[in-house]
Amino acid sequence: MGSKSSTILDRIDFSKIFEIEKGKVLGLQLPDGLKYWAREIAKFLEEKGYEVIISASPTYGSCDVDLNLLKHVDYLIHLAHSSTKFERVIFVPYFYEYHIDVELIKKTVKERKIALAGTANYAWKFGEVAEELEKSGYDVFLGKGDLEFEGQILGCNFTSLRGEYEAVLFIGDGLFHPLGIAFLGKKVYRYSPLSGEIEEVKADEFKKERYKIATKAIHCEKFGILVSSKPGQINLKKAREALKILKEKGKEAFIIFCDEITPEKLRNFDFDCYVNTACPRIAYDDWKKFDKPIITLPELKFAFGIERDILPDFKY
Ligand code: SF4
Repeated sequence: MGSKSSTILDRIDFSKIFEIEKGKVLGLQLPDGLKYWAREIAKFLEEKGYEVIISASPTYGSCDVDLNLLKHVDYLIHLAHSSTKFERVIFVPYFYEYHIDVELIKKTVKERKIALAGTANYAWKFGEVAEELEKSGYDVFLGKGDLEFEGQILGCNFTSLRGEYEAVLFIGDGLFHPLGIAFLGKKVYRYSPLSGEIEEVKADEFKKERYKIATKAIHCEKFGILVSSKPGQINLKKAREALKILKEKGKEAFIIFCDEITPEKLRNFDFDCYVNTACPRIAYDDWKKFDKPIITLPELKFAFGIERDILPDFKY
């Protein structure tokens, strides 16, 4: 076994998989960042006596289960996300090992009472991280929302942040999650153990953009309401609510149903605005890639005078 393969295999807890009877057919689904390792993992499982079929479908979160492949296998192994309840789907977490630079954090984060937030691959270690920060004088709030780990958030779920504190320390990468926290009106710092950088993240520009897009929607006449078939994203109730609002306002509106919502899939339609009911990332992060404005249901309500302000489109 080469050094690369031993690294990846050492970071995966295979115990739940090995409870499955040998000879069964396993589907293997991984996020893009781990697809490089799919062959190594499949080879390892094959050597243990299983037949393996690898899924090439996108895997953005635990909302994204390859139900098509599930029809053809005994179990689907979904790697790197924390669990939700699907029969015959085994969620196997993949945890990043990381260390924090407390001295660097202390130079930037002057608030004393801080909440920790991060996705599952960082949040698994928050107990230890909190202890380290407390030794340095911080009072750490670790909230348990309706996800697996304390302090864990998703782009569509910030329930672990319900509580009292002065600022949030987000540990992880990218701006999507800390922007969501700032959108809730909280002071937030993003610290990346990978790059060793720390910065305050503000939502001012992001909010300005959202108001601009919502305002554009008022002048649109033909609306497409986007529904994803991904098992953790499908929300026809929300789509029908948007449909009702639009029809009452005299607009033309139809529900559009698809698995992966991409600019290419929408390109040939004759709609001049879309309302997203699937993953919030589509409206909040990916909207620039689309030819037409994409708004959220709260933005639709704001645009048509049902709400006085734009509320975040995620659970809190
Ligand atoms: S809906 Fe989006 S933010 Fe929520 S878990 Fe899925 S990919 Fe993540």
